[in-house]
Amino acid sequence: MYLSEDEQKLIAKILEKDVKLLKPKYSPTKGFVYDIDGEIGLELSKFLSLANGLVEKDFLQRKFYKKIPTCPNCGSQRLLFTFVCPFCKSSNWSKGKAIQHLTSTCNYMGFESEFVDNVCPNCGQELKSARIDEGGGTLSLPVDYKVYDVYYKCNSCERFFEHPAVSALCLDCSVSSDFDSLNWIDLYTYEPSPALQKLESALFLTTKIKSELVRRGYTIKESQLLGKSGLPHEFDIVAAKGDVQVAIDVSAESDKKQRDLLLSGYVKSQDIENTNYYFVSTEGLTQEEKKITETFNIKSIEKIKDAKEILDKIEDDSSQKVKSIEKQS
Ligand SMILES: [Zn+2]
Ligand SMILES: [Zn+2]
Ligand SMILES: [Zn+2]
Repeated sequence: MYLSEDEQKLIAKILEKDVKLLKPKYSPTKGFVYDIDGEIGLELSKFLSLANGLVEKDFLQRKFYKKIPTCPNCGSQRLLFTFVCPFCKSSNWSKGKAIQHLTSTCNYMGFESEFVDNVCPNCGQELKSARIDEGGGTLSLPVDYKVYDVYYKCNSCERFFEHPAVSALCLDCSVSSDFDSLNWIDLYTYEPSPALQKLESALFLTTKIKSELVRRGYTIKESQLLGKSGLPHEFDIVAAKGDVQVAIDVSAESDKKQRDLLLSGYVKSQDIENTNYYFVSTEGLTQEEKKITETFNIKSIEKIKDAKEILDKIEDDSSQKVKSIEKQS
């Protein structure tokens, strides 16, 4: 499974901190961010594409969390929402109960308070209602007017409207956007998948071996080596110090998967030159696999999860090799 450097880093962090659930946190200065002890430090969109890529590769599982708006101009989440007149965008409006006079000559609309004594302030006519007697009480129903219990009137352009429009002022770039032009991002919570838990020990150990190699003066090289056959081979680790180059594969698998890794390790190791190949198995080798290592002379290190111990064994082996070459000459 090929993982990019960023993917490896994120996985390593999740495993290192034993994260069971990665949930976005709200920060007043940045908006929603994902972090693990303040250590991810990735921009939200970058983090999401990274995490969603790992969902596709089956290392993380996700659940929908929230849909959030961002500034269409700069991507910022720091938006100040204001509610404005849909016609002139002024936020100077009033809310109240409104009446619309519906006659053939008048279509006036105003707040209830303007209709003093039920008289329309525009045409001067009285509003007509139908009175219905119902079980002793009188019910007054509008006939030539309509009542809106909640309506809005702009104090700037004086027009009425049913709902104010939403305007988002970006606190970072100062651009105002209307509701329809906002961008929306889906946030998820992420959890390690069973496949990731399996990968855990192999990746974790690989990272530890790499830092131990660096501590001992090795240089970590590109993980791909070109074989004598002209074919490129991928290893978990390739490192060199002086004349010694080592290629290491780390397996946390068992059964058939580990056997396949071992056999492909053999094929790779036969094709590369001037490189000592080591197969590290965290779970240990079966009898059959041990036989394979003996038959094909594959150097294996099993059931050791301590990077220092593994490196001690590798260095012992490499120095023996150098000594035997020295003896021959
Ligand atoms: Zn902006
Ligand atoms: Zn009227
Ligand atoms: Zn207006």
